Amino acid sequence: MTTSFIPPRRILMGPGPSDVPQRVLDAMARPTIGHLDPAFVDMMEQIKAMLRMAFQTQNALTFPVSAPGSAGMEMCFVNLVEPGDKVIVCKNGVFGGRMLENVKRCGGVPVIVDDAWGKPVDPNKVRDAFAANPDARVLAFVHAETSTGAQSDAATLARIAQEAGALTIMDCVTSLGGTPIHLDAWGIDAAYSGSQKCLSCTPGLSPVSFSERAVERIKARKTPVQSWFLDLNLVLGYWQSAGRRTYHHTAPINPMYGLHESLVILEEEGLENAWARHRAMHEALKAGLEGMGLRYVVDEAARLPQLNSIHVPEGVDEAAIRARLLNEFNLEIGAGLGDMAGKIWRIGLMGHSARQENVDYCLTALKACL
Ligand SMILES: *Cc1c(COP(=O)(O)O)cnc(C)c1O
Repeated sequence: MTTSFIPPRRILMGPGPSDVPQRVLDAMARPTIGHLDPAFVDMMEQIKAMLRMAFQTQNALTFPVSAPGSAGMEMCFVNLVEPGDKVIVCKNGVFGGRMLENVKRCGGVPVIVDDAWGKPVDPNKVRDAFAANPDARVLAFVHAETSTGAQSDAATLARIAQEAGALTIMDCVTSLGGTPIHLDAWGIDAAYSGSQKCLSCTPGLSPVSFSERAVERIKARKTPVQSWFLDLNLVLGYWQSAGRRTYHHTAPINPMYGLHESLVILEEEGLENAWARHRAMHEALKAGLEGMGLRYVVDEAARLPQLNSIHVPEGVDEAAIRARLLNEFNLEIGAGLGDMAGKIWRIGLMGHSARQENVDYCLTALKACL
């Protein structure tokens, strides 16, 4: 007989998921109700309002997609890119590469702006790309590149796109709740995030937000969106009109309770206080790591507080250290991806994981293993 699964207790300090507070887990264990139940519809309206706070936007079309961050990414591209549309895609890590793949699969014509892994997107290259391609309709970039720990200058990039008359798609999966985001002030037209990084909910939901300009572009499409599930024209009837909600798909009810609770926690702490806490915990971790002689991958000016990439010291078997951290300390940290596999560690300080006790524990464990 197979018995119930009891997961081990871990401390999650990798690139996501982050530690989920007990309050969020408790919220998810509450009774399941119908997804068109007025009580559920009211709760969804609260989720939308709290997401607007987190994204710093007034966008009416702000809601969680019923699927992980990758689905939020895909929703932005399949709705905003039509066959033949030129899209400037910034690639400085794994997730920029995925944006490029999305553009291709939508039949878009990509113009690639390449930057080295570990560097932020270079705004001058983006300016040059628009000068050479004045017909580009969209700019796509990753705000917080989780594969390297580099943060790009979203305000400047979005301004360049606006001056060129293009829409902007921004990946803020790792930035939402962890480092400042101002969708409206920056003029971002489409943004997607994830529930399991700095919001510290369980994985599987993707908060998204679309500006009026983005909605107009979608309504003016000449071709239907090729994805039925992610077609915003269809999802709109479900998410936008509280009073007249119609069936589109069955929302994941209990995970939505979890997201609601994680946003209540964020509201209680205050968005700016949450940003400041991530910064302070990063400073504490950095002091400890540098004290051990470890070096950061990303230049100080572009470092993400919530994702600390460090070089594995010469002659150290990085996978063996991660295995020891997991087996002896119940501590998860991340490995390098792609070109950086085997060469770096990625230590996450996301959401509920960004606490002094975690920083101290991680430093102690790493010291013991090195
Ligand atoms: C984690 C992540 C994603 C993908 O989110 P999933 O929930 O794993 O699908 C996309 N972009 C960035 C920058 C991420 O860190």
